[in-house]
Amino acid sequence: MHTTRQTCLERDAQDPLRHLRDLFELPADTIYLDGNSLGPLPKATPERVAATVQQAWGQDLIRSWNSAGWFEWPLRVGDKIGQFIGAQPGQTVATDTTSINLYKVLKAALALRPGRSRIVSERSNFPTDLYIAQGISRDSGHRVELVDQDDIAGALNGDVAVLMLTHVNYRTGAMHDMAALTRAAHEAGALVIWDLAHSAGAVPVDLLGADADFAVGCGYKYFNGGPGAPAFAWVHPRHVDAAWQPLSGWWGHAAPFAFDPQYEPASGIARYQCGTQAIISLCALDVGMDTFLASQALGGMAALRAKSLALTDLFMQLVDDFASANGLSVVTPREHGKRGSQVSLSCAHGAYAMVQALIARGVIGDFRAGDAQQADILRFGFTPLYLRFVDVWDAAQALRDVLHSGEWQAAPFQQRQAVT
Ligand SMILES: *Cc1c(COP(=O)(O)O)cnc(C)c1O
Repeated sequence: MHTTRQTCLERDAQDPLRHLRDLFELPADTIYLDGNSLGPLPKATPERVAATVQQAWGQDLIRSWNSAGWFEWPLRVGDKIGQFIGAQPGQTVATDTTSINLYKVLKAALALRPGRSRIVSERSNFPTDLYIAQGISRDSGHRVELVDQDDIAGALNGDVAVLMLTHVNYRTGAMHDMAALTRAAHEAGALVIWDLAHSAGAVPVDLLGADADFAVGCGYKYFNGGPGAPAFAWVHPRHVDAAWQPLSGWWGHAAPFAFDPQYEPASGIARYQCGTQAIISLCALDVGMDTFLASQALGGMAALRAKSLALTDLFMQLVDDFASANGLSVVTPREHGKRGSQVSLSCAHGAYAMVQALIARGVIGDFRAGDAQQADILRFGFTPLYLRFVDVWDAAQALRDVLHSGEWQAAPFQQRQAVT
């Protein structure tokens, strides 16, 4: 059937997930294609955060650590996340940032593979992951080896302690085969850390099924926990009690309120906490997870994935009509099994200004700079919780108009801001 704006509206009317959009505060006249970078505000968040501030903090004061269960929140919220990453209850903790959690799990993993000198990762990994590995290796003497995607399996040998990968690439949206790469690493005797920043809440993830060793991920992207929301850490039960994590603060102690001068790690994932947690931020993340959990009654991650693929297929199909004539090309893999929930377009010149011109039209995507190897990227995240097929149509139309009118060449769109 020929796709028109009308057929998109008809698909929306048939979409079993269509009411989930009502759970979000989305500004009028905005098509938000950046939920992979900062998820939007759930409608329930302001009231729940206000209750935590005014009642639990304001009135109940320190008693809330017990009466509101604050002390348990990192594990309680962690279990809500765990449902979407193939974890069992008690294996996931919501805490700190992705970078900090990566530091913890990478140090723990290295401690479990003494005598091996290399950490293997991808050159195109998100830089913070590489920076954390580089920082650790300055002290530990490990060598950080960065390879291209096709060379990962070949880089695995008896000297590799840890394979550290991001499941879905932040620039291109390409997705690794988690089970196959985990198996290859294990055959070489290495452990695997998966960064799920662009996969948790975006694609079905089965950490236990893939036999992964460690994982980390974000709370403010697809889980809509708010800017700087706590991140999460997951550790396979076979490792969780086998190593200390390096930030051995009192919240990870077996008995924090015994105030023992000797550190004794808690058993289980609780030891991956460090110090007092950001309770108000955890509250907002908790609402983000409750909002996400509303999808469970409608088919959960499988239904979200089906819609995500339909949205991204549609966007690629629409953009194909005019992209190459304007110097753009889709760099996200077409094959469903090989991509996450975003579509990235590469462009030799003007990508930043094109994104700015789109934002001026109310279509919010983002820009990621290229380097010697890779062209600049226009990046569009598609989140099936609140996006409609008609939004995809309108966004593609806006991009077509921005290109055909040449309006992106106007001076104001060329000015780079601090955050791209
Ligand atoms: C977004 C992202 C992060 C963010 O790390 P923070 O510590 O939360 O700033 C880390 N890794 C990857 C792969 C990401 O995409």
